[in-house]
Amino acid sequence: MLWKSPAFLQNLTTSCSMSSSNSEKKTTEFRCPVCRAQQPLQPVCRRCNADLSLVVRAHQRAAQLFVALQQARLDSDFARQHQLTEELRLLRPSLLR
Ligand SMILES: [Zn+2]
Repeated sequence: MLWKSPAFLQNLTTSCSMSSSNSEKKTTEFRCPVCRAQQPLQPVCRRCNADLSLVVRAHQRAAQLFVALQQARLDSDFARQHQLTEELRLLRPSLLR
């Protein structure tokens, strides 16, 4: 399915708190939680070299959960919707709004 493709997940991963288009640079950049440097989401901070790999993984997992949640809704699988919603609420509540 197209919407489960890695490209879709990457776009979803980057569209929430980071850049999805160049026209919205200001609100779309990721900020390093250590030094606050703005940058694209990447495993190592460009300025302070902080290890951001867990942040990257959390963003990717949230994107996967979001896609799985859409599928569970299409399938009317309420148990799975509940399970996915709970995990997504802990990881990235902004995706539930
Ligand atoms: Zn940094």
